[in-house]
Amino acid sequence: LAVPDFAGLVGDVHRMYREILPVRSGAVADYIPQLARVNPEQFAISLCTVDGQRTSVGDDDVPFCVQSVSKTVSYCLALEEHGVDLTHGHVGREPSGQSFNELTLNRQGRPHNPMINAGAIMCCSLIRPELAPADRFDHVARTWQRLAGGRRTGFNNAVYLSERQTADRNFALGYSMRENRAFPNGTNLQETLEFYFQCCSVELDARMLSVVAGTLAAGGVCPLTGDRVFSEETVQHCLSLMATCGMYDFSGEFAFTVGLPAKSGVSGAMMIVIPQLMGICVWSPRLDELGNSVRGIEFCRKLVAEYQVHPHAAM
Ligand code: GLU
Repeated sequence: LAVPDFAGLVGDVHRMYREILPVRSGAVADYIPQLARVNPEQFAISLCTVDGQRTSVGDDDVPFCVQSVSKTVSYCLALEEHGVDLTHGHVGREPSGQSFNELTLNRQGRPHNPMINAGAIMCCSLIRPELAPADRFDHVARTWQRLAGGRRTGFNNAVYLSERQTADRNFALGYSMRENRAFPNGTNLQETLEFYFQCCSVELDARMLSVVAGTLAAGGVCPLTGDRVFSEETVQHCLSLMATCGMYDFSGEFAFTVGLPAKSGVSGAMMIVIPQLMGICVWSPRLDELGNSVRGIEFCRKLVAEYQVHPHAAM
């Protein structure tokens, strides 16, 4: 068993949930009404080990949109389709040191990495570009479903429409990349941006996202179904970039204090991977100034304080 004392872990997770529940600092994202209206009190922690043991507490069946957590899956899909060299001819792999939607490209005129908006838009342009938009989205949705152990993910159309309506910054990023000839030949910018907003609007619940994280922890094989969704190499690259770039402008601090690959999104979702051991989802909508879930960060602090999960811990 990956976690021999699973009952002990379940007890600890439930206790941490109760300890963190009173934390009410931060504020929900309000750049679109669909996120501003989400009940900020909601909180869920779910985990799934690489051998399929699961536990879950709180609002673990309430759907939320993945938002920036989608950047992980889009990057993996680009890698699976094109390999490392071609993919990284279009997007860098250095932390940007700047906010997630900053209007800036690297010295080659490419987005800094796949975990920020510009880089995720670039990855979307690389996913099945020859297919019709509906089929491209189907491909992404089917991949999420396989990662989540076979349960169908949802789609929040209101979020999608809102994202598309308030997208000046993302369009600006798109035009800037097009000006620098960063996209593959033949890329339709409007279609690519719409595809990116659709990827952000995929919905699932904490239980499902913990299985997705568990699949990454298991090197790309879903712990519930045994389905190999991504190659080990793809997952390794994705985890490397999550570890260096996954937590917005907190990524360096997070790498220092927690050290685990993780990705957060403005919906308050957070996916944490403990390689070879388990995947964890924490979801709670109130965000700190840097855009990470306050309770999500609090959970990670407790996790490293109580368990030796920091990859560079000596013990
Ligand atoms: N849809 C958001 C955007 O592109 C994603 C933000 C996020 O989760 O970081 O602005």
